[in-house]
Amino acid sequence: MRCYACSKLSLRVLCKQCIAELFVANIKTRTVGTLDVISFFRYSTLESLLHTKHKPEGYRIYKVLAEMTVKPFIEEFVESDDRDVYIVGIDEMVKNGYAHVALLTRAMKRPYAIPQHSALMAQNRVNYSGKSLQFRLENPRNFVYTGKSNIDVILVDDIITTGITLQEAQKVLLSHNVNVLFALTLADVEEI
Ligand SMILES: [Zn+2]
Repeated sequence: MRCYACSKLSLRVLCKQCIAELFVANIKTRTVGTLDVISFFRYSTLESLLHTKHKPEGYRIYKVLAEMTVKPFIEEFVESDDRDVYIVGIDEMVKNGYAHVALLTRAMKRPYAIPQHSALMAQNRVNYSGKSLQFRLENPRNFVYTGKSNIDVILVDDIITTGITLQEAQKVLLSHNVNVLFALTLADVEEI
């Protein structure tokens, strides 16, 4: 097969060279409302890879991205923090045989980091891409949470654009007495 990023022949979806050189993570924290959102990449760096999420090849690409980002992050986190933490992905809906956000949350499973799969599902999946902030505010995701209460949670999504979705998720979790520590996303669309 060919490397998805550079098109050279490669045994893996992303060749070793691209993993090492092109995708040097650019960790950034952005605060939306009262929520800190940590992102690993600029969106422009990952754009072509993130577009694979609703295609069969996205399965392997998201797995590689998870290995490079959220996995080492959570390993370091559980070493420095001794409480149990739960992992909640935004809307782990299965499409084309897998849920792309679940590939990220699954990679974060540790003895003290427990994914609650499909616990936060959107009732409204109107397409936000290219839509204004106003449109997004007028068309909330209407999340339903079915996970545990009285826990600490790390929220996970693949992309942050306006942050509206993550804030809405935080609010829903709060109403279930869930404390959101922060959110993790692969890429931030805001180029600062
Ligand atoms: Zn490559």
